[in-house]
Amino acid sequence: MSVTWTNRPPRDEWNKNYRLARVGPKGSVRGIILNRTLSGTRLHYWKGKSVPCNGSKCEACRDGMKPRWYGYVALWNPKTDAVQIAEITDGAADELDRYFARHNSLRGAVLTLSRQGARPNGRIISQVDPPQLSEERLPAEPDVMRCLEKIWGVNENHESVARRSAKTRSENTNGHAEKPAHESQR
Ligand SMILES: [Zn+2]
Repeated sequence: MSVTWTNRPPRDEWNKNYRLARVGPKGSVRGIILNRTLSGTRLHYWKGKSVPCNGSKCEACRDGMKPRWYGYVALWNPKTDAVQIAEITDGAADELDRYFARHNSLRGAVLTLSRQGARPNGRIISQVDPPQLSEERLPAEPDVMRCLEKIWGVNENHESVARRSAKTRSENTNGHAEKPAHESQR
């Protein structure tokens, strides 16, 4: 348990408690992407919850668990004005990667995540459609990585998340996150 001190009131986007949206057995997740890029990391489902892999210090790895890569973007519903963070599987991320390669940004595009076929455990597929609204009508880009660190209960001391994301951000001010970790996992 650690205390998070701040020097100003919590007005930042990252301080909002956005809900994490996963595609359920039958449902789908849809919305307008607010982030320019996808943010991804490797996670374990360990002791009943998702925990980011902590690299060489990772207890879950030592327990013999393999981490899996997941990507995240904030999705906005223009009708309700609600923002949620969509979890995107390795396979479903390829479509976003292709869109990014063509347009150099995901922001404004319409993302639909759904299950392939009718099976509740069917693989998750994504569809990315071009923007329908102009950029200036979209809410600000939330800091997805900070939101996720809150959801996962990790902070700056958790090197695998905080430092890597800071590095990624400074190295890729214009671009996609460095080649997603899932590339090397295949
Ligand atoms: Zn690990």
